[in-house]
Amino acid sequence: MKDLAPELAQRRERHLYRTRIAIEGPQDTIVTIDGRSYLAFCSNDYLGLASHPAVVAALREGAERFGVGSGAAHLVSGHTAAHHALEEELAEFVQRPRAVLFSTGYMANLGIVQALAGRGDRVFEDYANHASLLDAAQLSRAKLVRYRHKDSFDLEKRLLQASGGEYLVLTDGIFSMDGDQAPLDELSAVASRHGAWLVVDDAHGLGVCGPDGRGSAAQQGLGVEQVPVMMGTLGKAIGTFGAFVAGDADLVETLIQQARTYVYTTAPPPAVAWATRRALKLLVEESWRRERLQALIQRFRDGADDLGLPVSESATPIQPLIIGSPDRALAISEDLRASGILITAIRPPTVPEGSARLRITLSANHREEDIDRLLEAVFGACQQRGLSA
Ligand SMILES: *Cc1c(COP(=O)(O)O)cnc(C)c1O
Repeated sequence: MKDLAPELAQRRERHLYRTRIAIEGPQDTIVTIDGRSYLAFCSNDYLGLASHPAVVAALREGAERFGVGSGAAHLVSGHTAAHHALEEELAEFVQRPRAVLFSTGYMANLGIVQALAGRGDRVFEDYANHASLLDAAQLSRAKLVRYRHKDSFDLEKRLLQASGGEYLVLTDGIFSMDGDQAPLDELSAVASRHGAWLVVDDAHGLGVCGPDGRGSAAQQGLGVEQVPVMMGTLGKAIGTFGAFVAGDADLVETLIQQARTYVYTTAPPPAVAWATRRALKLLVEESWRRERLQALIQRFRDGADDLGLPVSESATPIQPLIIGSPDRALAISEDLRASGILITAIRPPTVPEGSARLRITLSANHREEDIDRLLEAVFGACQQRGLSA
C-alpha cells in the first residue's frame, strides 16, 4: 500500500490542491458560507432555475406522488411515468424523435461512446473537450485521436488518415472552461463526408442558446441529420440534475439496450424528473431569462473592455479570465473572496498547464449592479497582483 501523503503534499506545494466550500442555503447569486454572504459567479445555474420556487414546489409534489428513491434501474422497475413524460418533452424540446435519460452527463457520455464504438473503431475529439468525453473514449477501447481546437480541417486530415471501423466525432457545443462555441456546421459537414457519427455534448448550450434555448445545434440550424447524437445535461441551465441523449429511435433504443451506464445503475429519483418537467416549461415560457442573461454578458464584456481586462473571446455566460500560473489565480480568487465575491480558480489538470484562470459565470439572476461590482473587484485584484490590464 503506497503512502498517499507525499503526493498530496506535492499538490499543495504546486498550488494545485483543491478544497471544497460548503454552501449553507440554496444555489443563487448570493450564497452563504460560514455565515457570511458572497456574490457568486461560479455556478452553471445560468438561468437561475435551481432554486426557483415553482421548481422546488414541483420537486415536493413529485416526492409526494412518487416517493424519493426509484428503487431499481430503468430496465427493471425504476422507470416511472415521470421519467417517461420528461423524455418525451425533452425530445420535443430539442426537436429529435426520441430521448433517453441518464443519471448524469458524465455517465451519458460514457454510455454513448461505449455503445457506438469499441476495439478497432476511432474516436476523434477536440483538444478542449470535457474530461468525461475523453474518459468515454478510453473506456470504449476505441483508438482516441485528438484534433486541434475547433479545427475542422485538422479533423478532416485525421479522418483521411484513418481506415476501417466506426468513426465518432465528439465535441462540446460550448467549451466548458473557455465559453467558446464549436463550429458545428463545419464539423457536421466533415463528419458526414466520412460517414462518422457526430456527438455534441451541449451541457452549456442547452437552455442558453438557440431559439427558445434549444441549444447549440438549433442555434446553427442543425437537425438530427447533421447532429445525430446530442447530449444535454439537466444540472446546469435547466437547474435540476441528470442528463439525456436525443436522436433517432434506433440510436435511443441502442443506448437503452447497450449503454452500460444506463443498464447497470439505479434510475434517478422520479421527483427530480418531475421537477425537471417544470423547469423545462419555465425555461421556454420565461424567455426574458435568456434575454437578461445576454444583456448581462454584454454589460460584462463592455465593462471589461473599458477596463482593459483580458477576458477571453466568448459570447456565452462562461467568461474566463486567463491568469496563467495557479498560485496567482488562487491569490486573486482569495482576494476576491475577502471582498465578498466568490469565483473559483480553475487550475490544471482541468485546464492546460499555464492557463489557470478565473472562470466567471453569469446568471440571469444577477443584477446590473452585481456585474459592475464584479468588474471593479476583478480589476482591483488583478492590479494588486500585478496582472497587467
Ligand atoms: C458538466 C459537464 C458534463 C457532466 O455532466 P454532469 O451531469 O455534471 O455529470 C459533461 N460534459 C460537459 C461539457 C460538462 O460541462
